[in-house]
Amino acid sequence: PSKEPVDVNSIVKESLALREYELRQRGIQVVTHLAELPCIMADQYQLEQVLVNLIVNAEQAIAIANKGDRLTVTTGVLDEFIVVTVADNGPGIKPENLDKLFDPFFTTRVDSGGTGLGLSICHGIVAEHGGRLTVSSELGSGAVFTVALPLKENRC
Ligand code: ADP
Repeated sequence: PSKEPVDVNSIVKESLALREYELRQRGIQVVTHLAELPCIMADQYQLEQVLVNLIVNAEQAIAIANKGDRLTVTTGVLDEFIVVTVADNGPGIKPENLDKLFDPFFTTRVDSGGTGLGLSICHGIVAEHGGRLTVSSELGSGAVFTVALPLKENRC
């Protein structure tokens, strides 16, 4: 990846802007809480790919649950990491699937053309930035994906 100084909040806004039409069309309320962030060295297009992927997955999940549709994106600094969370109020993820989610080809969307590659690629991109992509979910009340990017050695 070709790293340059980036503002993660701008990448979040850019990613949401790319999905604005679909989000509005699906009647999904978007809530953002963006904290002031230090600059980091990162590949902005790859990070955008990660965020767009997480947003599209959230849209698809919300379409299944179809109740008070909301997508919440937050940014902040925790310890030595920039933390971005993408949360939806879709159906959530079965506990037994949580640790398979990032495996290549794991999908529950066979019928709708899922390849199961999106999250494994996202996981790889975040790892290449020295970070972590994790998920937590309470079945029935949605899923939260967390991207943690280390500040250490990446400040600009
Ligand atoms: P695909 O979208 O092609 O299935 P992904 O790697 O993007 O591949 O996702 C893998 C699986 O993770 C999906 O099939 C789905 O079961 C689950 N998943 C991803 N995001 C969410 C979400 N926000 N809520 C519930 N399940 C999700």
